[in-house]
Amino acid sequence: IVQLYVPLNWFGTYYRAIQKNFVDMENMFDLMRVDSDVTDAAGAPDLLVRRGAIEFKHVSFGYGPEKLVLNNISFKVPPGNTVALVSPSGAGKSTIMRLLFRFYDVNEGAVLVDGQDVRTVTQASLRANIGVVPQDTVLFNNTIRYNIQYGRLSAASADIISAAKNADIHDRILTFPDAYDTQVGERGLKLSGGEKQRIAIARTLLKDPAIVLLDEATSALDTNTERHIQTALSRVCANRTTVIIAHRLSTIIHADEILVLKDGEIIERGNHEALLAQGGFYSSMWQQQLDSRNTSAVETPAENNR
Ligand code: ATP
Repeated sequence: IVQLYVPLNWFGTYYRAIQKNFVDMENMFDLMRVDSDVTDAAGAPDLLVRRGAIEFKHVSFGYGPEKLVLNNISFKVPPGNTVALVSPSGAGKSTIMRLLFRFYDVNEGAVLVDGQDVRTVTQASLRANIGVVPQDTVLFNNTIRYNIQYGRLSAASADIISAAKNADIHDRILTFPDAYDTQVGERGLKLSGGEKQRIAIARTLLKDPAIVLLDEATSALDTNTERHIQTALSRVCANRTTVIIAHRLSTIIHADEILVLKDGEIIERGNHEALLAQGGFYSSMWQQQLDSRNTSAVETPAENNR
């Protein structure tokens, strides 16, 4: 039904963004069957989600035949745990997220959710159990209410408001001209990056999935926005299996495990303390971020940049 109202140019923008980054795959799949080789196996059953355990088992993958982007990647995320992916640009973090969402199929190895190979279950059931909080949420040209309700179309109004409160965006919404009925998106009120991310968090809270994939914003946010977002993020991750692409290492010091990727391979793994003690790549990235924080005098008030 949604498809009828989505203008094509909007879809084009969207599609290019997805090619480039890890954004809104979730909405994308609902909007259109993407031209891809990924299909449901004949008679595939639905995914049976128990607690959302994730496993990558010797996964290798390339977008084309010429180059492997991931090379023999193995890791497990136990139910309710948080694993963070860090790396230099282009090392394959977003690709791991796309494989988990089954945007593409692996060349070798397997991606498992609660012990089930994602290739053997229906795509709809897989995606129904994964919430995505992208770095840059593309809002529908519709009301704020609809944009949150999209997480669970049958949600009652009280649940939508409660999700917005938990995502720390409710009070902000009340300042908009028509509150929850305010039109947003390309042809409505433009929201800041921080606001859009909180809308995505509210949507995910409403969806209530066992698994959450989170792409932390790269852009500098002012301290106030940052605080709102961190509170909201900790609520959306609580008691859910979480995979996070981290750009600022300060946000993942409590992650159960940090995977450091380089050229498609995991070069270091462990928690924050263990990796610092190791004195390797992670520890030098950490030192770099500390140094740059000490030298950058100006903070960008991104929340108010319209
Ligand atoms: P960043 O930190 O810059 O977001 P990343 O670690 O998330 O990077 P990926 O986006 O997973 O890295 O990209 C890994 C590699 O795969 C890069 O070399 C990239 O150019 C390539 N790549 C990504 N998406 C595609 C695509 N759709 N088609 C072909 N190659 C791609």
